[in-house]
Amino acid sequence: MQFIDLKAQYQVLQSKINTRIQSVLDHGHYIMGPEVFELETKLAEFAGVEQAVSCANGTDALQLALMALDIGPGDAVFTTPFTFFATAEVISLVGAHPVFVDVDERTFNIDPKQLEIEIQRVQAEGTYQAKAVIAVDLFGLPADYPHIEPICKRHDLRLIEDAAQGFGGEINGRRAGSFGDIATTSFFPAKPLGCYGDGGALFTNNDELAEKLKSLRVHGKGTDKYDNVRIGMNSRLDTIQAAILLEKLAVFPDELESRQQVADHYTEALEGVFKTPKIPRGYRSAWAQYTLLSEQRDSLKAHLQSHQIPSMIYYPAPLHQLGAYERLGYCVGAFPVAEQLSKQVISLPMHPYMESRSNQLVTQELFKAL
Ligand SMILES: *Cc1c(COP(=O)(O)O)cnc(C)c1O
Repeated sequence: MQFIDLKAQYQVLQSKINTRIQSVLDHGHYIMGPEVFELETKLAEFAGVEQAVSCANGTDALQLALMALDIGPGDAVFTTPFTFFATAEVISLVGAHPVFVDVDERTFNIDPKQLEIEIQRVQAEGTYQAKAVIAVDLFGLPADYPHIEPICKRHDLRLIEDAAQGFGGEINGRRAGSFGDIATTSFFPAKPLGCYGDGGALFTNNDELAEKLKSLRVHGKGTDKYDNVRIGMNSRLDTIQAAILLEKLAVFPDELESRQQVADHYTEALEGVFKTPKIPRGYRSAWAQYTLLSEQRDSLKAHLQSHQIPSMIYYPAPLHQLGAYERLGYCVGAFPVAEQLSKQVISLPMHPYMESRSNQLVTQELFKAL
């Protein structure tokens, strides 16, 4: 059994993807070819925003967002300690100061009440200027934007949605990728919408920000590429990856349905006995991961392993406990919910081509492991 079966997906899309790749090889516009712009139009349409700007990966997308919003030294950026390292790493990369905020124990996403408290604390302290929030749609579930957006407005903070895992999710019909001043995503192969290498994108309704992002991704270019008007990056999406994504985006809505079905099967079988994911009313998850909480997650993992069933621990340590962020001086117990989650989470095999037979096998073995 595969944790994520990318080969099964390729078998279904093979001839379409091959044709698209061949067409790029024929026209030869490997960098910023027509597929890149076709994809950007379709991504913006899907997310329900004015503009999508593609780039080289999800980490660059976050960094470009911070650069476009002029965030740098002296600025505090609030984010969750329970996420992939990249979310906080980019804050440090632009010279700003990461401030962690504990997560909600039900959704695993940044807790708006704690966010309000931390913003007020930073403002009262006065060492850093409270500037922005990066909220993460962890495991596919959009963060609590109905509460986060008004907090950011009230304190005049910019909001970035890290939808690397959440792209495809929604809140009351509003799609992930449409929240905040800028949203970002990743097309790393294992994400809900992945390519065959690295890729990423940004989303915004602000034309001025979109123009700035298009400049920043090509060395801060001005009207032409040898007229550099700002310091930027080299962060473009390869045309071949855009071609692959066009075919994958076409089936993405169906794949999201299938992911939901896999999740429903898990929940029906496991609910009541295991702590299954909680999806708030009006929300839809992209099901980047299907994650249980268990005090015996290590023995569950070992049992599954002994039956050739892969499982993963996302994430074994919250960011404030990693060596890279020792210097921030957070102690054990600083973020009790994130710390507890990192000890209890276990993610099960999840992908849109998972057969119900495999689904049953996983749940069966989980019960045996108890
Ligand atoms: C994967 C991921 C990223 C980084 O994306 P890359 O394309 O790997 O650079 C950022 N944030 C989150 C939450 C992610 O899961």
